[in-house]
Amino acid sequence: MQVGFIKKSGTFKLLLICILPIRTQRIEHMKKIVLASTSTLFGQEYLEYLLEELQSFFEGCSTITFIPYARPGGISHDAYTALAATAFSKINKKVVGLNSFTDPLEGLAQAEGIFTGGGNTFLLVQQLHQLQLINPLKAKIESGTPYLGTSAGSNIAGPSMKTTNDMPIVYPPSFDTLGVVDFNLNPHYMDPDPNSQHKGETRETRIREFHIFNTTPVIGLREGNYILVNGDHKILKGEGTARIFEAGKKPYESKNIPF
Ligand code: ASP
Repeated sequence: MQVGFIKKSGTFKLLLICILPIRTQRIEHMKKIVLASTSTLFGQEYLEYLLEELQSFFEGCSTITFIPYARPGGISHDAYTALAATAFSKINKKVVGLNSFTDPLEGLAQAEGIFTGGGNTFLLVQQLHQLQLINPLKAKIESGTPYLGTSAGSNIAGPSMKTTNDMPIVYPPSFDTLGVVDFNLNPHYMDPDPNSQHKGETRETRIREFHIFNTTPVIGLREGNYILVNGDHKILKGEGTARIFEAGKKPYESKNIPF
């Protein structure tokens, strides 16, 4: 309730203004994200193990906008889009490559659902920066557009791409990525082989090195695992656990995503 005064004929009349609480409808935009370690399991077709999940995840989307810029094995954007299209046709969804738009920003704005495929993370991030897509893509995901990433496409969901396994084959202007989740990923995570005579760094060693200079938690996501994000709710799907790395702590196994 608000109380006001109006001056009228030399007297002050009390005017009570009752203002009904105006319910400004806050539209909740729940982030909907799937971050998969890999696109393909041994002996299976592309995305096969994820299709059931994707059917409900992309419910309501008839077309998925595919971001093909990571180009695994150097294949063309169109060939990569065709691969994604074949997989999604099995759940009756069309796929359109973002590369097919003269203006990729416009293509992104129209997207009902988004899928970024794996490949080389440096190339993917360089391309996203070059096309000025980093911020629009982040905003689009934050506004609730369902986003699927596999591998490099999952790496870019974290605050930085610094925990990728890829080689720097091109030079992105920044290692910063979307930051739509609060952790970095290390996809295709491999446990050290205690019997190996190989003396190169293990994944664990490399992630520890990352934590000497950075504090972002890292999730070592093994093949066949994926993280499903629904607003603030995050769950690990697939068999077993993920390996969690936090700066200054011993790495541990978890079925939950603690960040
Ligand atoms: N090269 C991986 C991919 O398939 C990404 C990574 O291992 O960091 O996208």
